[in-house]
Amino acid sequence: MTSSANRKVAVSLTFDFDAESAWLGSFKVDTPSALSRGAYGANEGVPRILKLLAKYDLPATFFIPGDTADRHPAVTKTIVDAGHEIGHHGYLHEPPHLLDLAAERVVIERGLDALDRQTGTRPAGYRSPAWELSNNTFQLLEEYGFKYDASQLGADRPYWATATGPGQQLVEVPGAWELTDSSHFLFAFSPNYLTGLASPSKVEEIWLADFDGMYEESSDACYVLTMHPQIIGRHHRMQMLERVIQHILGHPNVWIAQMGDIADEFLSRNAAR
Ligand SMILES: [Zn+2]
Repeated sequence: MTSSANRKVAVSLTFDFDAESAWLGSFKVDTPSALSRGAYGANEGVPRILKLLAKYDLPATFFIPGDTADRHPAVTKTIVDAGHEIGHHGYLHEPPHLLDLAAERVVIERGLDALDRQTGTRPAGYRSPAWELSNNTFQLLEEYGFKYDASQLGADRPYWATATGPGQQLVEVPGAWELTDSSHFLFAFSPNYLTGLASPSKVEEIWLADFDGMYEESSDACYVLTMHPQIIGRHHRMQMLERVIQHILGHPNVWIAQMGDIADEFLSRNAAR
């Protein structure tokens, strides 16, 4: 597989294994049917995703809320056992911008404790639920020793997450709403009506054109797909994801990497501040 040295673009396949926590923590609904949509990610989505990743021998990063790890320890273990990177994604998918400093600290600690308890790992990376951050988040991530954040949308390539302070070395590995499954596919009646249910051919067109554009530029860009087992895990979307993977693998000099590896490469190329 292409290394970072001669790549034209880095690609990272990321999955936010929200399960029930997104419905409980972000959407604030606890009805059995809503929660069962989250459970679909554990029951069907993750096994299907792991099978596809194994078929092409691809590394991936899974951001897992602590509640998901506690609720689905066996499924979470299959992700770790397959060698994929685990990242922090809150405890109950709490949007950080709605928390004060003390509450956000508790969420960081509860998430770390759950991932340690269920996976024996301490994550190097953090992605906030729904890609919102508080004004305290970066300070907390640095305090708890995180290497990178994956919640910002400011560029097509990694950059320093924070602008100030000697010794602060938090790397941003950014995403894009256009390159998520949730923005296109997620349907809901409540708490807000979301149309969702896009045709896979529409999303495939968007995802491939962004890949082709980044590849053509041949730079330090990182093409980060952000997906959710409970959304991408449906067959028609998994078939689309496989076609996207085949398109990417059909190009030489593509570095397919876990998010932590992309952050490490950025750190190695940029002297510590
Ligand atoms: Zn999430």
